[in-house]
Amino acid sequence: MTIPTDDPLLSNDDAADGVFEFAPEDAAQSTSPGLGGAKRYKVLSVDDDIEFQQSLRYALQDFRYREHRIEFIAVQSAHEAACLLNRDKEIAVMLLDVVMETDDAGLRLVKSVRELLGNAEIRIVLVTGQPGMAPLRETLSQLDINDYWLKTDLSLERLHAVVANALRTWDQLTTLDQARRGLQLIVEASNVMAYSRSLEDFSVRVIQEVTRLLGLPPEGVVCTQTHDTASAAMARIVGGSGAFATLVGRPLDELEDERIRHILLHCLQEQRVVRDRLGQALYFSSVPAGPSAAAYVETTRALDPVEVDLLSVLSSNISSGLSNVALVSKLDTMAYQDQLLGIPNGNALVRIMDNVIKAANVEAHSLLLLDVDQFSESCQALGLQQGELLLRRVSQRLAQIFQPPTVVARLHNDVFAVFGLKYLLVQDFIARLENCAPEEPGHVSFISLCSSRVDLDCFSGSGAEALSMALVLLKQAKSRGLNQMAVYVPGMEAACRQRFGMAFALHQALRSDQIIIELQPQIDLGTGRVFAAEALVRWRREDGTRVSPLEFIPIAEANGDIVMLGAIVLRKACRAVRTIAAAGWPDFRIAVNVSALQLAKEGLVEDFLEVLREEAVAPWQIELEITESTAMEGDDTTKRLLDRCRTEGFSLAIDDFGTGYSSLARLRSLPTALLKVDQSFMREIGQRATQETIVDMIIKLGTRLGMNVLAEGVETPEQVAWLKQQGCHAAQGYWYAKPMPLDDLLVFLARQAG
Ligand code: C2E
Ligand code: CA
Ligand code: CA
Repeated sequence: MTIPTDDPLLSNDDAADGVFEFAPEDAAQSTSPGLGGAKRYKVLSVDDDIEFQQSLRYALQDFRYREHRIEFIAVQSAHEAACLLNRDKEIAVMLLDVVMETDDAGLRLVKSVRELLGNAEIRIVLVTGQPGMAPLRETLSQLDINDYWLKTDLSLERLHAVVANALRTWDQLTTLDQARRGLQLIVEASNVMAYSRSLEDFSVRVIQEVTRLLGLPPEGVVCTQTHDTASAAMARIVGGSGAFATLVGRPLDELEDERIRHILLHCLQEQRVVRDRLGQALYFSSVPAGPSAAAYVETTRALDPVEVDLLSVLSSNISSGLSNVALVSKLDTMAYQDQLLGIPNGNALVRIMDNVIKAANVEAHSLLLLDVDQFSESCQALGLQQGELLLRRVSQRLAQIFQPPTVVARLHNDVFAVFGLKYLLVQDFIARLENCAPEEPGHVSFISLCSSRVDLDCFSGSGAEALSMALVLLKQAKSRGLNQMAVYVPGMEAACRQRFGMAFALHQALRSDQIIIELQPQIDLGTGRVFAAEALVRWRREDGTRVSPLEFIPIAEANGDIVMLGAIVLRKACRAVRTIAAAGWPDFRIAVNVSALQLAKEGLVEDFLEVLREEAVAPWQIELEITESTAMEGDDTTKRLLDRCRTEGFSLAIDDFGTGYSSLARLRSLPTALLKVDQSFMREIGQRATQETIVDMIIKLGTRLGMNVLAEGVETPEQVAWLKQQGCHAAQGYWYAKPMPLDDLLVFLARQAG
């Protein structure tokens, strides 16, 4: 028989009226703390002497320990007691009769409580009616039995003192245990939260951990207030679990539940824990100017002092976690966002692409790169601010045309990327860009774009690889001029790799002695004498193989190595011309090729003069060859530069003449002394009349402008005869000599003199 002494809705007095019922489960459940508010200590009497139990009940009826009442439970056998104790871990004190079913039933029960159930906290007081049944002192201490009393000795006062003492010890033991478990949870929680990378994830974990600590269902909501959210009402809900999950991302203001909104607001404003009957908001703050947060969880029961202490430890842990997460998410923004335009950057793009590439069965995606033509020129002409404005405008237009989920990112300077479904990206986006909202007057108007595209369905590789492929293609498109597009074709990588390998090897070659020059004689058609030579660069690799300049010059031009290469060639040409002068040809001149990129470099003339000074060579001994396209395309800066070269005494030649589109006015204005007719015209001399007319025209034009004309690529005596007949001044080609090392040229010169 069990006496359910304590229905939470009934007072002890009601129970004490003697409602005897057989309801052991209820007895266990009814002890759950809470609903009635105040805590009750559970005291279990195990005794087959019902009368004694009755008197115990009366004796404890009005007893209070620290203001709390006793919930008295009575069972009559060790067996029943064992079942009950197995179910209910919250029984604080057991008043146990030593002799029941058997002489040692009491002691056996104690043994199984301690050793089998592992309940070390419950306080046990042995009582017996028979003197002389006392167990040994040793047994008492072994089983952690606190007291041993003869029933007859238990006066009311003594019983109260014994129970109070037992409860005090139980309180301490369980508090310790709870704190220990709580701290363990906190350590685990801190570890878990250390992995959070975003505020959203962090706040979900905060709710999980706080509710776990309090033994509540994992429901709650977290909002943060950063230094840029002016008022607490503008705090943002960053995480919610359970019923609150749908609120994430919304301002606190929009939280419909007025009570919770109120508690959270208060909590943030007053920077402290705020509670009401149904729940509480915990406050977390990070570094001084950092974000603060409030987390609301439902707790209908009052928290005990240990829980409050543990929560404050957890809160300070969460606070330091919060500043970490805030920092990490700020770093994340910085690492993945373009700071000027606030759109994704290259890192973000690669991350997004990798996710798409990883996901199986996604619809075909494409990557499009766009480069604003002549952006740096516009910036130079209009100023940096206008440049930024231009970028903003391009970014806005792209956002108008390519809407989410298509991603628009900025990679660097004026290079934008668009990543999305292929069918959206293969359409004529340039036309669509032009059709966008008209400009406000007075601002930079539409600019042309170079672009490249990689369709991921025919590309195998990571996001980063696709991006670098697209960048290589973009560079190729740009090298072809304005408004160009290059599209990836499978198999291109091999060519790219080879190109890259060569660029790398060339870079090394420039720093070793693999770069040499050969000299090709130029012949005065009037006298038949060699008066000059063109220096042509040669790359002899370590294994002795040669690479044609037609292959490596474009690479050197593309990566800027041409500047260094040009300087090496110039120095070698200087040394050659000095050797030739010393050998008896003091008027001899050597021509070097100067590429457009060299001309664009600041301080080119000074650098050249420096080399000449170091090598003790006069500028007139060196001729600078600039291709027709370079000479004509460049703006006034090119002309000024050429004027400057001329003034310094360099001789100037226009190379590959006839292949570009020269304006007569421009040609006239350039300080050039020599026109080199492109070798393509030579091939058909004597075969096709049209070519003859072109060369003829060039010769006449040059003569009229007071320039000498040199025919390149002369290979046959017929060509020589025809050129002489037309009055061409000079010639260069295999008919006379192939490009040769300096030593050979010295022999060549000596032979023709002799
Ligand atoms: P280029 O300046 O027009 O040089 C003339 C090219 O024609 C040379 O080729 C020369 O070997 C070749 N050539 C000479 N005579 C004949 C002939 O009778 N028939 C034929 N078929 N070809 C002849 P190379 O040395 O392979 O140079 C190719 C191009 O590489 C040069 O064209 C020039 O644009 C560039 N290059 C060579 N050296 C340098 C340099 O030091 N700096 C720069 N920037 N470019 C250079
Ligand atoms: Ca040349
Ligand atoms: Ca040429």
